[in-house]
Parts: sequence; C-alpha cells; structure tokens
Amino acid sequence: MRLVLLGAPGAGKGTQAKKLIEKYSIPQISTGDILRKAVADGTPLGKEAKAVMDKGELVSDKIVLGLVEERLKQDDCKKGYILDGFPRNTAQAEALDGILTKIGAPLTVALSVDVDMDILLKRLTGRRTCKNCQQMYNVYFSKSAKENVCDKCGGELFQRDDDKEATIKKRLDVYEAQTAPLMDYYKKKGILKSVAGMGNIDEIFNKVCALLG
Ligand code: AMP
Repeated sequence: MRLVLLGAPGAGKGTQAKKLIEKYSIPQISTGDILRKAVADGTPLGKEAKAVMDKGELVSDKIVLGLVEERLKQDDCKKGYILDGFPRNTAQAEALDGILTKIGAPLTVALSVDVDMDILLKRLTGRRTCKNCQQMYNVYFSKSAKENVCDKCGGELFQRDDDKEATIKKRLDVYEAQTAPLMDYYKKKGILKSVAGMGNIDEIFNKVCALLG
C-alpha cells in the first residue's frame, strides 16, 4: 500500500500513521519528523529549515522533495509506505506523481483525516511531547498524571516551538491555502478516501482500517 495521509495540522495523521505501520508493516515517512531531526542535529539543512518552521511556513519544495525522493529509494519502501505531512501543496503532489510514475508504482490511496477547527486548536495548543521517549500528551484531552512529567519514563514534557499560538494560526492558514486543495487533486484521480478524525483514537483507527480494506 502506498498511502498519502492528508489533514490539517493536529488532525491526528501521525497518530494514525503509527498504528498503520504496525498493522501493515510499512514505514511512515513524516517530512515534519525528518525536518525536526535535521534541526535537532544542527545540520545546515536543519538550520535553514528551523527559521521557516518556527514561522509556521512551508520549507522549500526543493529541500522537501530531495528528502522524500531519497527516502523512497530505501529498501523498506518497496512493500509500500505512509507519507505523513507530504505532499503539502500541488507542486509537491505533482512532483511526487512524477517520481512514482517513473518507477511504475503510483499511489494507492490518499486518506484524509477530517477534524473540526475548534478541536484542532485545542489539540495543537495542548500538545506536549516527552523529551526522552517522544510519548505525546495533551493538556485538554490526555494529560500526564503529573504536570510536565512523562507517565511512561519520567522524562520532561515540552511544547514544540511551532505549537505556540501565533505559529499555529499561521500553520492552519497555510494548510487552508496550500494543502486543502489537495483533496480535490486526489479526488479527481479517484483515490481519495475520508475519515472523521474526532473521538477515540482506536475507533478512528477501526474506521480507517475498514476504509483501507
Ligand atoms: P508537521 O509536523 O508535518 O506539521 O510539519 C512541521 C513543519 O515542518 C511544517 O509547519 C513545515 O514548516 C515543515 N514541513 C513539514 N512537511 C513539509 C512539507 N511537505 N513541505 C514543506 N514544509 C514541510
């Protein structure tokens, strides 16, 4: 299965992707995670990306496409993959189609995870991550037992720089303007499926599995 996950920041794409990779034994390719790693490692690419990410804007198509093309060439992608957070605009979607057409393995499905705006805002502003084990929490929906301490490993919880309020507004605006049009793009190709991404994580996952078959 070659799957693209669509949905606004905070829709829960990453959470569903984590469950899908277990079920289907295929890798998750999150351009956000790849970029955050480059930032944490302090690579030149990471330094360039950080300023853009902190503003809530999109990193250049050239950089992101280079990262994705490299990643798709790796052996573990032969059985399929889940693209999470990519493509983010029509230019990236067209470039991805070009790459996949060349290797004769087009996308199987684009799955959109749909969530109302008021919930998105709480999910994003409330999101906290463990510095140590990356376990995610939310101060509104799934608090840790002790404030700012990970239940699993006792690590310190932090808020992503781009989950601060001003950046979130920008990220959602960028989503509406640049990424939401991809729904139509994949609908026209006949591979778009949609799931309501609200409520219990496992219930959403069951709906996702029913859709994917
Ligand atoms: P995410 O974790 O997917 O919300 O990504 C966090 C940030 O990384 C975004 O706000 C962008 O600045 C950058 N980013 C992630 N994926 C892409 C992409 N496909 N194209 C451009 N920028 C991206």
